[in-house]
This record gives sequence, structure tokens and C-alpha cells, in this order.
Amino acid sequence: MAKFRSYFLTPTQRSSLVASAQDAAPARLRQWTGLIVGWQLEFRVGFGRQKPITTQTSIAAMIKPLLQDDDFLADVRAARADAGNIHLWWLGQSGFLVQWEGGHLLLDPYLSDSLTHKYALTDKPHVRMTERVVAPERLNFINVVTSSHNHTDHLDQETLVPLLQANPELELVIPEANRAFVAERLRVAPGFPRGLDTGQSLVVCGFIIHGVPAAHNTVEKDDLGRHKCLGYIIQAGPWTIYHSGDTKRYGGMEAQLQKWPVDVALLPINGDLPERRVAGNLDGREAATLAKGIGARLVIPCHFDMFEFNTAAPEEFVATAGQLGQPYRVLRAGERWSSALVPG
Ligand SMILES: [Zn+2]
Repeated sequence: MAKFRSYFLTPTQRSSLVASAQDAAPARLRQWTGLIVGWQLEFRVGFGRQKPITTQTSIAAMIKPLLQDDDFLADVRAARADAGNIHLWWLGQSGFLVQWEGGHLLLDPYLSDSLTHKYALTDKPHVRMTERVVAPERLNFINVVTSSHNHTDHLDQETLVPLLQANPELELVIPEANRAFVAERLRVAPGFPRGLDTGQSLVVCGFIIHGVPAAHNTVEKDDLGRHKCLGYIIQAGPWTIYHSGDTKRYGGMEAQLQKWPVDVALLPINGDLPERRVAGNLDGREAATLAKGIGARLVIPCHFDMFEFNTAAPEEFVATAGQLGQPYRVLRAGERWSSALVPG
């Protein structure tokens, strides 16, 4: 994968970097953060005395989604004619679009470059690997969006704010423990999101959503004992989907999940390596094994091919699923999976 680094920033890139840094800062420090990052950019770019700023200036070597932009939206429209089946598309990282009987649910969408910009000045650059499937403002038919936890690839202001603007009736489902944080990041009223905790359920626009624990890296609770990272079980008509969020295995995990007849498990496979200095996830072997353990009829891997420093090839996942006899499907970004493909 070729990297593209630039010593020079356009005014748009510069203001985007400053804005990302400000967003990451506590409210009272925002103005100062903007000034300091601005000066830092001038120094680095203007005098070129430090290492160059990592900013992708070309997408020539990036992975192309199978369907992107107009083609992706045309496929979503076309799928509506097949209302007896549930359809889902991988949007990259942990993002999925689910379509059931004309209703649309988004899981953890990350449809911006906010992390690439946020970490551009650091020793942990988030060099993007796959092009974006679609701009969030073009998804103007979404009923519900979920966030599994507060990390930006699962709660992205630059995705969710345009999405909220494009969908005035949009419902946002989050872990109840994260309500204040989410309201601050998205600049929405604290009462706006629909909160869930482990063991609780919501019915939203025809989707029944249940909260289950996630361990990223451990099962973490707030002062009131509420889980800060969740997975979601989504029931849509006769179909049951498990979107684990970012998680490793934890004690009792299989027993928790065996309560549901999971048709499709959406599981991360990027693993957990200390040298990445980020919280980890299941690796491919663990994801395939968990899917088998909970009796999932199909498992689809995710959370790979987005950032160079934090990815894993799906081969180990594929090999383990094969050994276990666990049905699986590896999607490309922008590719649709439909329940019409489930045998029997
Ligand atoms: Zn993540």
C-alpha cells in the first residue's frame, strides 16, 4: 500500500486539521487548541524542519469499494423491490447499512476522514486503506443509527452531524452510559439519543434492538454500573443480527448470546496488538470460533482494511471458519449481502 505524504496543505486541509483538533479538545480548551495546532502547522509546513505531516493527497492506491456513491445508492434502491429479504451492506470498519421492509438502520457508520486528520500530526497516523463508500449527507433515507461506544470510528461527528441534518426524523441509539459524551460530541440535546444498557431493549422503526455487553478491552462500566461499550442484537421480522461493536471475548459471552437465534454475526477481526496502542478486538480465529459457539448461521467479518496501522487480512478468519464448518461471507466495502443467499 503506497503512502502519500504531503509537505504542503491547502487552506481547506489546514482548517480541517485545526477543526478536528478542536473537536477532540475539551470545550474550555477549544480556542487555545485551534491556535496552537494552527501555529504547529505553520511551523511544520512553513519551515519543514520536523517530519512531514501525514496527509493523503491521492487515493490512487486505495482499495475501491465494490459499489460506491451513485452505484451504491442505486443498489440500495433496487433492493427495496425484494422486501421479503433482509439486506445489508458493509460500509467499511464496523459500519453496516441494514434494510428491512423499506426501513433503514445504520450500525456504527464511519464515513469521513476525521481520524486521518485528527492523528495527522502524531506518531500514530491513521492512513486510510479503503475509499469511502458514500457521503453521509447522501444517506437521506435512514430511520435509525446506532453507536456501540465512544471511539470515533464508531461515533463520528463528521458522519453523524450531516446524517442528522439529512434525516430530521433520525433516531440515534447509544449506550445509556455515554449520553453526556454523545450529546457533547454531536452537539445535540442530551435528551435526544435513545439509551440502552445490557439487558434492555428498544423498538425503533420496526427494528427491535437489545443491548449486550462488549469488552474493549474489558467490560467497562460507569459509576452507575452501566456498560460503556455495547453490542447490539437487532431483530427485524424473522431475522436476527448480532453487531458486536468492538469487543474481545469475555466470560459468559457465549451464554449471553446463545439466547438469540443469530442469523448473521458481524464481528471484528483486527485483533489486539499492544504495539498499536489502541484497544483491541477479536482476531480472525476468535471471531470465527465465537460465531460457531453462538450458533450463528453466518458470520461476516469487519473492522479491517480501514487503517494501515490497525488491520488484519481475513485469511485466518476464513481458514478457521473453514475448519469449524462455520458458514461465513467476506464482503468488500459497498457490497450487499441478502438473506436470499441463506440456504433453507
Ligand atoms: Zn473500532
